[in-house]
Amino acid sequence: MSDQDATTETEHTLRTPIVAVLGHVDHGKTSLLDRIRGSAVTAGESGAITQHIGATAVPLDVISDIAGELVDPTDFDLPGLLFIDTPGHHSFSTLRSRGGALADIAILVVDVNDGFQPQTLEAIDILKRTQTPFIVAANKIDTVPGWNPNENQPVQQTMDAQSERVTSDLNEKLYELIGELSDNGFSADMYWRVQNFQANIGVVPVSAETGEGIPDLLTVMMGLSQRYMKEEMEIDASGPGVGTVLEVKDTQGFGTTLDAIIYDGTIHKDDTIVVGGLQGPIVTDVRALLRPRPLEEIRTEQQFEQVDAVAAADGVKIAAPDLDDAIAGAPIRVLRDRDRAEVIAEVEEELSEIEVTTQEE
Ligand code: GDP
Repeated sequence: MSDQDATTETEHTLRTPIVAVLGHVDHGKTSLLDRIRGSAVTAGESGAITQHIGATAVPLDVISDIAGELVDPTDFDLPGLLFIDTPGHHSFSTLRSRGGALADIAILVVDVNDGFQPQTLEAIDILKRTQTPFIVAANKIDTVPGWNPNENQPVQQTMDAQSERVTSDLNEKLYELIGELSDNGFSADMYWRVQNFQANIGVVPVSAETGEGIPDLLTVMMGLSQRYMKEEMEIDASGPGVGTVLEVKDTQGFGTTLDAIIYDGTIHKDDTIVVGGLQGPIVTDVRALLRPRPLEEIRTEQQFEQVDAVAAADGVKIAAPDLDDAIAGAPIRVLRDRDRAEVIAEVEEELSEIEVTTQEE
Protein backbone atom coordinates (compact mmCIF):
# COMPACT_ATOMS: atom_id res chain seq x y z
CA MET A 1 0.00 0.00 0.00
CA SER A 2 1.39 3.45 -0.87
CA ASP A 3 1.55 6.31 1.62
CA GLN A 4 -1.27 8.02 -0.21
CA ASP A 5 -3.58 5.08 0.35
CA ALA A 6 -2.74 5.09 4.02
CA THR A 7 -4.41 8.46 4.50
CA THR A 8 -7.73 7.10 3.25
CA GLU A 9 -7.46 3.90 5.24
CA THR A 10 -10.51 3.17 7.34
CA GLU A 11 -10.37 2.17 10.95
CA HIS A 12 -12.93 -0.51 11.66
CA THR A 13 -14.03 -0.68 15.25
CA LEU A 14 -17.03 -1.94 17.16
CA ARG A 15 -19.11 0.79 18.69
CA THR A 16 -21.19 0.75 21.84
CA PRO A 17 -24.83 -0.29 21.35
CA ILE A 18 -27.34 2.46 22.19
CA VAL A 19 -30.02 1.43 24.67
CA ALA A 20 -33.45 3.02 25.21
CA VAL A 21 -35.76 2.42 28.17
CA LEU A 22 -39.51 2.31 27.49
CA GLY A 23 -42.63 1.47 29.45
CA HIS A 24 -45.79 2.77 31.11
CA VAL A 25 -45.64 5.80 33.38
CA ASP A 26 -44.62 4.96 36.98
CA HIS A 27 -43.45 1.47 36.09
CA GLY A 28 -39.92 2.52 37.05
CA LYS A 29 -38.04 3.65 33.91
CA THR A 30 -36.32 6.59 35.60
CA SER A 31 -35.56 4.60 38.75
CA LEU A 32 -34.04 1.81 36.68
CA LEU A 33 -31.77 4.21 34.80
CA ASP A 34 -30.80 5.86 38.10
CA ARG A 35 -30.03 2.50 39.60
CA ILE A 36 -27.86 1.46 36.66
CA ARG A 37 -25.98 4.76 36.87
CA GLY A 38 -25.66 4.42 40.64
CA SER A 39 -24.37 0.85 40.41
CA ALA A 40 -21.93 1.90 37.71
CA VAL A 41 -20.58 4.70 39.87
CA THR A 42 -20.17 2.39 42.85
CA ALA A 43 -18.61 -0.41 40.85
CA GLY A 44 -16.32 1.45 38.51
CA GLU A 45 -13.81 4.17 38.95
CA SER A 46 -15.95 7.21 39.44
CA GLY A 47 -14.76 8.78 36.19
CA ALA A 48 -15.67 5.80 34.09
CA ILE A 49 -19.24 6.69 33.31
CA THR A 50 -20.46 9.85 31.69
CA GLN A 51 -23.51 11.83 32.70
CA HIS A 52 -25.24 15.16 32.24
CA ILE A 53 -25.15 15.03 28.46
CA GLY A 54 -28.31 13.07 27.86
CA ALA A 55 -26.63 9.69 27.75
CA THR A 56 -24.79 7.44 30.17
CA ALA A 57 -21.93 5.28 28.93
CA VAL A 58 -21.36 2.16 30.99
CA PRO A 59 -18.11 0.50 29.86
CA LEU A 60 -17.68 -3.27 29.77
CA ASP A 61 -15.31 -3.36 32.75
CA VAL A 62 -17.91 -1.58 34.88
CA ILE A 63 -20.65 -3.97 33.67
CA SER A 64 -18.34 -6.81 34.53
CA ASP A 65 -17.79 -5.42 38.06
CA ILE A 66 -21.55 -5.08 38.57
CA ALA A 67 -22.41 -8.45 37.07
CA GLY A 68 -19.69 -10.37 38.91
CA GLU A 69 -19.66 -14.03 38.00
CA LEU A 70 -22.45 -13.58 35.43
CA VAL A 71 -20.06 -11.88 33.01
CA ASP A 72 -16.75 -13.02 31.67
CA PRO A 73 -15.45 -9.87 29.98
CA THR A 74 -13.34 -11.91 27.56
CA ASP A 75 -16.59 -13.15 25.99
CA PHE A 76 -17.28 -9.67 24.68
CA ASP A 77 -15.61 -7.33 22.28
CA LEU A 78 -18.31 -4.67 22.25
CA PRO A 79 -17.12 -1.81 24.48
CA GLY A 80 -20.16 -1.55 26.80
CA LEU A 81 -23.63 -0.01 26.66
CA LEU A 82 -24.76 3.57 26.09
CA PHE A 83 -28.08 4.40 27.78
CA ILE A 84 -30.23 7.27 26.52
CA ASP A 85 -31.12 9.13 29.73
CA THR A 86 -34.58 10.32 28.68
CA PRO A 87 -36.84 7.31 28.96
CA GLY A 88 -40.16 6.86 27.22
CA HIS A 89 -41.46 6.29 23.75
CA HIS A 90 -41.72 9.93 22.87
CA SER A 91 -37.94 10.27 22.96
CA PHE A 92 -37.55 6.85 21.37
CA SER A 93 -39.66 7.91 18.38
CA THR A 94 -38.12 11.35 18.08
CA LEU A 95 -34.53 10.18 18.27
CA ARG A 96 -33.66 8.66 14.97
CA SER A 97 -30.60 7.70 12.99
CA ARG A 98 -30.66 7.47 9.22
CA GLY A 99 -34.37 6.78 9.14
CA GLY A 100 -34.31 4.10 11.86
CA ALA A 101 -34.45 4.34 15.62
CA LEU A 102 -31.39 5.82 17.29
CA ALA A 103 -31.57 3.09 19.92
CA ASP A 104 -30.21 -0.25 18.77
CA ILE A 105 -31.82 -2.16 21.57
CA ALA A 106 -34.44 -1.49 24.25
CA ILE A 107 -35.52 -2.37 27.76
CA LEU A 108 -39.29 -2.51 28.18
CA VAL A 109 -40.04 -1.87 31.86
CA VAL A 110 -43.21 -3.46 33.24
CA ASP A 111 -44.34 -3.23 36.87
CA VAL A 112 -44.95 -6.85 37.92
CA ASN A 113 -47.99 -5.80 39.94
CA ASP A 114 -49.53 -3.69 37.24
CA GLY A 115 -48.84 -5.75 34.11
CA PHE A 116 -49.42 -4.42 30.61
CA GLN A 117 -50.88 -0.91 30.49
CA PRO A 118 -51.74 1.39 27.55
CA GLN A 119 -48.22 2.80 27.25
CA THR A 120 -46.71 -0.68 27.49
CA LEU A 121 -48.75 -1.63 24.43
CA GLU A 122 -47.78 1.57 22.64
CA ALA A 123 -44.13 0.85 23.36
CA ILE A 124 -44.51 -2.69 22.02
CA ASP A 125 -46.07 -1.36 18.83
CA ILE A 126 -43.15 1.02 18.33
CA LEU A 127 -40.58 -1.70 19.03
CA LYS A 128 -42.31 -3.99 16.55
CA ARG A 129 -42.55 -1.31 13.89
CA THR A 130 -38.88 -0.33 14.22
CA GLN A 131 -37.81 -3.98 14.62
CA THR A 132 -35.83 -3.06 17.70
CA PRO A 133 -34.69 -6.06 19.74
CA PHE A 134 -35.76 -5.75 23.36
CA ILE A 135 -35.92 -7.49 26.69
CA VAL A 136 -38.53 -7.05 29.39
CA ALA A 137 -37.49 -5.83 32.83
CA ALA A 138 -40.19 -7.14 35.18
CA ASN A 139 -39.72 -4.42 37.79
CA LYS A 140 -40.58 -3.96 41.47
CA ILE A 141 -40.07 -7.60 42.48
CA ASP A 142 -39.25 -6.27 45.96
CA THR A 143 -42.92 -5.31 46.41
CA VAL A 144 -44.10 -8.91 46.55
CA PRO A 145 -45.44 -9.22 50.13
CA GLY A 146 -42.85 -10.88 52.37
CA TRP A 147 -39.94 -10.15 50.02
CA ASN A 148 -36.53 -10.45 51.64
CA PRO A 149 -34.29 -7.99 49.80
CA ASN A 150 -30.72 -8.85 48.80
CA GLU A 151 -29.21 -5.64 47.53
CA ASN A 152 -27.70 -5.82 44.02
CA GLN A 153 -27.80 -9.60 43.81
CA PRO A 154 -28.32 -11.64 40.66
CA VAL A 155 -32.01 -12.47 40.48
CA GLN A 156 -31.86 -16.25 40.65
CA GLN A 157 -29.77 -16.02 43.78
CA THR A 158 -32.22 -13.68 45.48
CA MET A 159 -35.22 -15.73 44.31
CA ASP A 160 -33.64 -18.81 45.90
CA ALA A 161 -33.41 -16.89 49.16
CA GLN A 162 -37.18 -16.18 49.29
CA SER A 163 -39.79 -18.22 51.04
CA GLU A 164 -41.78 -20.68 48.95
CA ARG A 165 -44.89 -18.52 49.11
CA VAL A 166 -43.04 -15.40 47.95
CA THR A 167 -41.41 -17.31 45.09
CA SER A 168 -44.73 -18.72 44.01
CA ASP A 169 -46.41 -15.28 44.19
CA LEU A 170 -43.66 -13.78 42.07
CA ASN A 171 -43.72 -16.62 39.56
CA GLU A 172 -47.44 -16.17 39.16
CA LYS A 173 -46.98 -12.49 38.32
CA LEU A 174 -44.09 -13.26 35.96
CA TYR A 175 -46.11 -15.87 34.08
CA GLU A 176 -48.97 -13.42 33.74
CA LEU A 177 -46.51 -11.08 32.04
CA ILE A 178 -45.24 -13.82 29.79
CA GLY A 179 -48.87 -14.54 28.87
CA GLU A 180 -49.47 -10.89 28.03
CA LEU A 181 -46.40 -10.85 25.81
CA SER A 182 -47.71 -13.94 24.09
CA ASP A 183 -51.11 -12.26 23.57
CA ASN A 184 -49.18 -9.55 21.76
CA GLY A 185 -47.47 -11.93 19.43
CA PHE A 186 -44.20 -12.49 21.28
CA SER A 187 -42.97 -15.78 22.47
CA ALA A 188 -41.32 -15.01 25.80
CA ASP A 189 -39.81 -16.78 28.78
CA MET A 190 -37.66 -16.15 31.82
CA TYR A 191 -34.36 -15.02 30.37
CA TRP A 192 -32.39 -17.97 31.74
CA ARG A 193 -34.55 -20.33 29.70
CA VAL A 194 -34.20 -18.41 26.46
CA GLN A 195 -31.77 -19.96 23.99
CA ASN A 196 -32.47 -17.77 21.01
CA PHE A 197 -33.09 -14.14 21.91
CA GLN A 198 -34.07 -13.37 18.33
CA ALA A 199 -37.00 -15.75 18.49
CA ASN A 200 -37.93 -15.25 22.14
CA ILE A 201 -38.20 -12.26 24.43
CA GLY A 202 -36.24 -12.68 27.66
CA VAL A 203 -37.94 -11.54 30.86
CA VAL A 204 -35.57 -10.32 33.58
CA PRO A 205 -37.10 -9.87 37.05
CA VAL A 206 -35.55 -6.77 38.66
CA SER A 207 -35.94 -4.20 41.37
CA ALA A 208 -34.84 -0.66 40.61
CA GLU A 209 -35.26 -0.06 44.35
CA THR A 210 -32.90 -2.75 45.67
CA GLY A 211 -30.77 -3.40 42.57
CA GLU A 212 -31.73 -7.07 42.53
CA GLY A 213 -31.55 -8.39 38.99
CA ILE A 214 -29.51 -5.43 37.69
CA PRO A 215 -26.47 -7.72 37.18
CA ASP A 216 -28.68 -9.98 35.05
CA LEU A 217 -30.21 -7.10 33.11
CA LEU A 218 -26.81 -5.74 32.07
CA THR A 219 -25.50 -9.21 31.28
CA VAL A 220 -28.47 -10.05 29.06
CA MET A 221 -28.26 -6.71 27.22
CA MET A 222 -24.56 -7.22 26.65
CA GLY A 223 -25.06 -10.81 25.46
CA LEU A 224 -27.92 -9.89 23.16
CA SER A 225 -25.89 -7.10 21.55
CA GLN A 226 -22.80 -9.23 21.19
CA ARG A 227 -24.64 -12.16 19.72
CA TYR A 228 -27.03 -10.49 17.31
CA MET A 229 -25.86 -6.97 16.66
CA LYS A 230 -22.14 -7.17 16.30
CA GLU A 231 -22.22 -6.59 12.55
CA GLU A 232 -24.38 -3.51 12.92
CA MET A 233 -21.92 -2.17 15.47
CA GLU A 234 -19.05 -2.19 12.98
CA ILE A 235 -18.15 1.36 12.10
CA ASP A 236 -15.30 3.32 10.59
CA ALA A 237 -14.26 5.32 13.65
CA SER A 238 -11.97 7.51 11.57
CA GLY A 239 -14.84 8.65 9.32
CA PRO A 240 -16.68 11.97 9.68
CA GLY A 241 -18.95 11.95 12.73
CA VAL A 242 -22.67 11.35 12.40
CA GLY A 243 -25.09 11.88 15.26
CA THR A 244 -28.46 12.91 16.61
CA VAL A 245 -29.39 15.93 18.74
CA LEU A 246 -30.86 14.88 22.09
CA GLU A 247 -31.45 18.33 23.46
CA VAL A 248 -30.77 21.96 22.62
CA LYS A 249 -29.87 23.98 25.71
CA ASP A 250 -27.98 26.88 27.18
CA THR A 251 -24.68 26.06 28.82
CA GLN A 252 -23.05 28.73 30.94
CA GLY A 253 -20.15 30.28 29.08
CA PHE A 254 -21.00 28.60 25.78
CA GLY A 255 -24.44 29.92 24.80
CA THR A 256 -26.77 27.52 23.01
CA THR A 257 -25.27 24.03 22.88
CA LEU A 258 -26.36 20.59 21.69
CA ASP A 259 -26.44 17.47 23.79
CA ALA A 260 -25.88 14.80 21.18
CA ILE A 261 -25.17 11.17 20.58
CA ILE A 262 -22.53 10.42 17.96
CA TYR A 263 -23.33 7.00 16.48
CA ASP A 264 -20.81 6.81 13.65
CA GLY A 265 -17.32 8.16 12.99
CA THR A 266 -15.63 10.85 15.06
CA ILE A 267 -16.37 14.51 15.69
CA HIS A 268 -13.40 16.84 16.31
CA LYS A 269 -13.14 20.31 17.72
CA ASP A 270 -13.08 22.82 14.81
CA ASP A 271 -14.96 20.42 12.49
CA THR A 272 -17.60 22.00 10.29
CA ILE A 273 -20.95 20.38 11.01
CA VAL A 274 -24.38 20.44 9.42
CA VAL A 275 -27.25 20.31 11.94
CA GLY A 276 -30.99 20.15 11.36
CA GLY A 277 -32.72 23.40 12.33
CA LEU A 278 -36.21 24.91 12.29
CA GLN A 279 -35.38 26.89 9.13
CA GLY A 280 -33.44 24.03 7.53
CA PRO A 281 -29.84 22.82 7.85
CA ILE A 282 -27.43 24.97 9.88
CA VAL A 283 -23.76 24.93 8.83
CA THR A 284 -21.43 25.86 11.67
CA ASP A 285 -18.01 25.15 13.19
CA VAL A 286 -17.54 23.23 16.43
CA ARG A 287 -16.04 25.61 18.95
CA ALA A 288 -15.81 23.14 21.81
CA LEU A 289 -16.68 19.54 22.65
CA LEU A 290 -17.68 19.22 26.27
CA ARG A 291 -17.83 16.19 28.48
CA PRO A 292 -18.86 15.99 32.10
CA ARG A 293 -15.95 16.17 34.50
CA PRO A 294 -15.10 12.95 36.26
CA LEU A 295 -17.41 12.57 39.23
CA GLU A 296 -14.78 13.15 41.88
CA GLU A 297 -14.18 16.63 40.44
CA ILE A 298 -17.85 17.51 40.07
CA ARG A 299 -17.69 20.17 42.77
CA THR A 300 -15.22 22.27 40.85
CA GLU A 301 -16.56 25.43 39.20
CA GLN A 302 -16.72 24.04 35.70
CA GLN A 303 -19.04 21.12 35.30
CA PHE A 304 -17.58 20.22 31.91
CA GLU A 305 -14.17 19.62 30.49
CA GLN A 306 -13.18 20.19 26.88
CA VAL A 307 -12.01 17.33 24.71
CA ASP A 308 -10.51 17.34 21.22
CA ALA A 309 -12.59 14.52 19.75
CA VAL A 310 -15.43 12.12 20.51
CA ALA A 311 -15.79 8.77 18.71
CA ALA A 312 -19.00 6.76 18.28
CA ALA A 313 -20.97 5.74 20.11
CA ASP A 314 -20.92 8.33 22.83
CA GLY A 315 -22.68 11.35 24.20
CA VAL A 316 -21.18 14.83 23.94
CA LYS A 317 -22.16 18.44 24.39
CA ILE A 318 -21.36 20.47 21.28
CA ALA A 319 -20.72 24.21 21.49
CA ALA A 320 -20.89 26.12 18.21
CA PRO A 321 -22.30 29.44 16.95
CA ASP A 322 -25.79 29.69 15.41
CA LEU A 323 -27.41 26.75 17.18
CA ASP A 324 -30.50 28.60 18.44
CA ASP A 325 -32.73 27.05 15.76
CA ALA A 326 -31.43 23.49 16.14
CA ILE A 327 -34.09 20.85 16.92
CA ALA A 328 -34.06 17.90 19.28
CA GLY A 329 -34.06 14.73 17.21
CA ALA A 330 -32.33 16.40 14.27
CA PRO A 331 -29.32 14.89 12.51
CA ILE A 332 -25.73 16.16 12.89
CA ARG A 333 -23.15 15.46 10.23
CA VAL A 334 -19.48 16.36 10.15
CA LEU A 335 -18.52 17.80 6.78
CA ARG A 336 -14.78 16.96 6.79
CA ASP A 337 -13.82 16.33 3.13
CA ARG A 338 -17.34 15.51 1.98
CA ASP A 339 -19.27 17.57 -0.55
CA ARG A 340 -21.08 20.36 1.29
CA ALA A 341 -24.20 20.36 -0.89
CA GLU A 342 -24.52 16.61 -0.60
CA VAL A 343 -24.31 16.65 3.20
CA ILE A 344 -26.80 19.51 3.41
CA ALA A 345 -29.18 17.53 1.19
CA GLU A 346 -28.82 14.49 3.46
CA VAL A 347 -29.60 16.53 6.55
CA GLU A 348 -32.56 18.13 4.78
CA GLU A 349 -33.94 14.74 3.87
CA GLU A 350 -33.55 13.33 7.37
CA LEU A 351 -35.12 16.49 8.77
CA SER A 352 -38.22 16.00 6.67
CA GLU A 353 -38.67 12.60 8.30
CA ILE A 354 -38.50 13.66 11.91
CA GLU A 355 -41.47 14.60 13.91
CA VAL A 356 -40.81 18.21 14.88
CA THR A 357 -41.71 18.64 18.49
CA THR A 358 -40.29 20.57 21.35
CA GLN A 359 -42.33 18.94 24.05
CA GLU A 360 -41.02 16.07 26.11
CA GLU A 361 -43.47 13.71 27.70
P1 GDP B 1 -41.30 6.11 35.42
O1 GDP B 1 -42.48 7.03 35.32
O2 GDP B 1 -41.51 4.86 34.62
O3 GDP B 1 -39.98 6.76 35.11
O4 GDP B 1 -41.26 5.59 36.94
P2 GDP B 1 -40.36 6.07 38.15
O5 GDP B 1 -38.98 5.59 38.00
O6 GDP B 1 -40.58 7.52 38.37
O7 GDP B 1 -41.01 5.21 39.34
C1 GDP B 1 -42.34 5.42 39.77
C2 GDP B 1 -42.46 5.10 41.24
O8 GDP B 1 -42.20 3.72 41.48
C3 GDP B 1 -41.46 5.87 42.12
O9 GDP B 1 -42.10 6.22 43.31
C4 GDP B 1 -40.37 4.86 42.37
O10 GDP B 1 -39.69 5.09 43.58
C5 GDP B 1 -41.13 3.56 42.42
N1 GDP B 1 -40.31 2.41 41.98
C6 GDP B 1 -39.65 2.28 40.80
N2 GDP B 1 -39.04 1.10 40.74
C7 GDP B 1 -39.29 0.47 41.90
C8 GDP B 1 -38.93 -0.83 42.44
O11 GDP B 1 -38.23 -1.64 41.83
N3 GDP B 1 -39.41 -1.14 43.67
C9 GDP B 1 -40.20 -0.27 44.39
N4 GDP B 1 -40.62 -0.67 45.60
N5 GDP B 1 -40.55 0.94 43.92
C10 GDP B 1 -40.12 1.29 42.70
